Amino acid sequence: MRLAALGLSHEANTFSTFPVDRAVIEEHTLRGDGIVAVHATARTTMAGYLAAAGGDVEVVPLVHCTLVPAGAITADALAAVADELVTALTEAGPFDGVLAALHGAAVGEECPDVDGYLLHRFRAAVGPTVPIGVALDLHANVSARMVACSDVLATYRTNPHVDARERALEVAELVVRTVRGEIRPTQAFQPVPAVINILCQNTGSEPMSEVMADLAGVLDRPGVLSATVAEGYPYADVPEMGMSVTVVTDADPDAAAAHARELAEAVWRRRSAFDTARVTPEEALRRVASAPATPLLLLDVGDNIGGGSPGDSVVLLNAARAAGLADLLTIVADPVSVAACERAGAGATVELTIGARSDPRTGPPVRSSATVVGLHDGAYEDPGPTHGGTRFFDAGRTAVVRLDSGQTVVLTSRVVMPSSAVQLTSLGLDPRRFAAVVAKGVHSPLAGYADHYAAAVWVDTPGVTSARLDEFSYTRRRRPLYPFEPEAALP
Ligand SMILES: [Zn+2]
Repeated sequence: MRLAALGLSHEANTFSTFPVDRAVIEEHTLRGDGIVAVHATARTTMAGYLAAAGGDVEVVPLVHCTLVPAGAITADALAAVADELVTALTEAGPFDGVLAALHGAAVGEECPDVDGYLLHRFRAAVGPTVPIGVALDLHANVSARMVACSDVLATYRTNPHVDARERALEVAELVVRTVRGEIRPTQAFQPVPAVINILCQNTGSEPMSEVMADLAGVLDRPGVLSATVAEGYPYADVPEMGMSVTVVTDADPDAAAAHARELAEAVWRRRSAFDTARVTPEEALRRVASAPATPLLLLDVGDNIGGGSPGDSVVLLNAARAAGLADLLTIVADPVSVAACERAGAGATVELTIGARSDPRTGPPVRSSATVVGLHDGAYEDPGPTHGGTRFFDAGRTAVVRLDSGQTVVLTSRVVMPSSAVQLTSLGLDPRRFAAVVAKGVHSPLAGYADHYAAAVWVDTPGVTSARLDEFSYTRRRRPLYPFEPEAALP
């Protein structure tokens, strides 16, 4: 049995001003053995697919692209990557099954549902009888087309996402059993016209912990092969944006539909808990001053790299300087400042203008003299657990500086999700020795930073991933959608 493993994983923030072009796609594309080198020992979706090989099952890694969340994919870049994927699927075939590693919230400048489009292309390439499995991120904005063009669709069930490998392995095993003729998967899809605020999306806390308990109940039922409650991704302004339920049964479409309906109603009943109060930067710094144990992990919600932001907001750094909190550690993506530090050299004093290069809401830039504490190549490895299961990271040339106001700033050349505290420890920085550590994420840092902070504070900062969804100008999302239109009802 030969299974193809391939895909494109992108979470598109349509409010971002950084489009994904052909050069960005190429930089992040792996082929064949390159996929094995990066994923085989990680805990990613692709790692789960590779782990399905064994016995008479061969998994053939073809082409895979994992993007750092950013804006929409340009039309020519999408055409090029889709053609490469489909060409690989066709030329390396025939295959008995397809394992697609997608995100579920990819958007093209001219294609609001890239994941549905790719699955449609894969289906056209392999024909109607070859099973297609797809593992998606929990932030997928699942569409009817994605469900129609696949046989088994599942999303992660954790946020932070520490079950990517498990979910993909589960999808692969269902595809294998389908090829063997042991099961006949049938899927039911039920959109839920609600958006859950990013602040409420941790599956370890209410309300999502309760939703996941409901989901576990459905998964236990006889005949249910898989089930999914997708949180959706609120920063993609597309018709499918929002929550959804998908249930896969063995040859029983009526049961699948009934389970999906029941689960959707359970989600819907909890909708009043899909938003929460917010903490200002000033309040967060007051909490640092009075915290019984430190460090506090200050989550920079408006500059959430995993949500497609540029990673160079200095709102919290400015607030710390204004409040006189010197004992703060933060990472800022700023290749211009890194270059200035490289020119000055380790130990030198340098005048820097840090951050806020693309979005005035995230500034003003910090103008300060600073001591260059260290210069590094920026590559590090974390065997996990990390959000999404990534193992190998590369922040590019990296400078550690201490500002004249006392704060420690890690300046990186590349934008990297803060999913691993090894990013800091590999530079000789111990997060536990600071009063406050800023992480530019919402839930994604929590797995990799688990041993490195005393308590977390989600800070209401501005930017393209702000928690204030009512301040975004949506033009393409469906209406009505809760909580924007409180009168929305489950269809
Ligand atoms: Zn996600």
